[in-house]
Amino acid sequence: MSDRNVRVRFAPSPTGALHIGGVRTALYNYLFAKQHGGEFILRIEDTDSQRFVPGAEEYIINSFKWLNIKFDEGVSIGGKYGPYHQSERREIYKKYVQVLLENQKAYIAFDTPQELEAKRTEIANFQYDASTRMQMRNSLTLPKEEVDSLIAEGHQYVVRFKIEPNEDVHVKDLIRGDVVINSSVLDDKVLYKSADELPTYHLANIVDDHLMEISHVIRGEEWLPSAPLHVLLYRAFGWDDTMPAFAHLPLLLKPEGNGKLSKRDGDRLGFPVFPLEWKDPKTGETSSGYREAGYLPEAVVNFLALLGWNPGNDQELMSMDEMIRLFDLDRCSKSGAKFDYKKGIWFNHQYIQQKSNEDIAEMFVPVLKEHGVEASADKVVAVVGLTKERVNFVQELWDASSFFFVAPASYDEKTVKKRWKEDSGKCMTELAEVLASMDDFSAKAQEDVVMAWIAAKEYHTGNIMNAFRLALVGEGKGPHIFDISLIIGEEETLARLKRAVEVLK
Ligand code: GLU
Repeated sequence: MSDRNVRVRFAPSPTGALHIGGVRTALYNYLFAKQHGGEFILRIEDTDSQRFVPGAEEYIINSFKWLNIKFDEGVSIGGKYGPYHQSERREIYKKYVQVLLENQKAYIAFDTPQELEAKRTEIANFQYDASTRMQMRNSLTLPKEEVDSLIAEGHQYVVRFKIEPNEDVHVKDLIRGDVVINSSVLDDKVLYKSADELPTYHLANIVDDHLMEISHVIRGEEWLPSAPLHVLLYRAFGWDDTMPAFAHLPLLLKPEGNGKLSKRDGDRLGFPVFPLEWKDPKTGETSSGYREAGYLPEAVVNFLALLGWNPGNDQELMSMDEMIRLFDLDRCSKSGAKFDYKKGIWFNHQYIQQKSNEDIAEMFVPVLKEHGVEASADKVVAVVGLTKERVNFVQELWDASSFFFVAPASYDEKTVKKRWKEDSGKCMTELAEVLASMDDFSAKAQEDVVMAWIAAKEYHTGNIMNAFRLALVGEGKGPHIFDISLIIGEEETLARLKRAVEVLK
């Protein structure tokens, strides 16, 4: 790599919720920038007012806040290359459109939609390019006076890029190598429209990447077809020397592997494709988000990092700092990455285990509240410690641990059939007496006393423990039984034993 300062950008168009693929693109840019001590810039490409969706920009900013992916410069932060909204840069683009026109790298075209349509019927596979442009109504075919008067009269026009045919255009891609395309397949792209006095994506994107001194363009594979045009634009401006390096990331594929990941795949299989919940302002439709579904941001970041890149070994769990250290565009794959959402769930499980019981307890408290439960912080932390290994999401802690907070309202039928024996009632009454006589109610003390009692009476340990668990939990699950009795306390343990004996007679 050259010794140029690394400056990369994420340049979304605010057309709706940010797709998870866009989040991965931003993450790779971030990792790359941080690794090289460079800058990461947020630029909003909002020149297409037709597709503008209110709230989308705020959504994008909030998503990255949640994920802890930080920008150094750009929208909502500022910086010396601003403004960072393309809609605030109209005059800049106009100037550069003029430069291309003056250097005969672009021309003005007046063809109306009807005229273009007529050409399309006349010529099969019509393309506005070197082979057809001289048959059209543009500044290459009309006398200069007519062009000037058409503009003066207020006729709408577009500015088109004049692409020279029969030339191999090389896109040097850090992931894909040398991608070559013949310029004859490209059409004379519209760069500017007089109707809204705005440039199209291609022109604005190139001008801004140049002015903002972007060193590397790291973006999704869907932009690869635009790259030859971008290379030609750089050249037309005479900016070859500072052209950024390109890296087009692999597509995210459906979990089954065929075709591009879509929102419908998420709806069909039950996983979000957006970082945060999104309410579409037009349709009112709400789409689920990773945050609301109970994912930890660290898990989402780690999961996404490995969709298209790997560190060269089978290490999967990595902190942001480790990923910054290990990330490498050379290790990004060319072929699409299957969106294995189950792996995302696995990552969430792993990150829940990594977090302290205190941190998880803090997230669990609101869930408890929803169920009408208030408990001491110590108790919640202890319960989390005993149950978190069984869950993938914080919300699942309720099912895994509700018996610590509320006595079973009923007893699972199957478990009763299997585990409540004829003498269970008698044994549980005796067990209650044994436990009631204890001063030290620690798990260890209980276990010692209960085991000694079982041995003396020659009871069957399994039968006793099963019935005891059924009485405390209401079914056959849960952690070590004496941890449960310790946390719910002596009084509650005795009450639950008594109740089971009454109900299960
Ligand atoms: N505005 C484009 C987008 O929405 C930017 C593509 C690029 O990174 O060049 O993704």
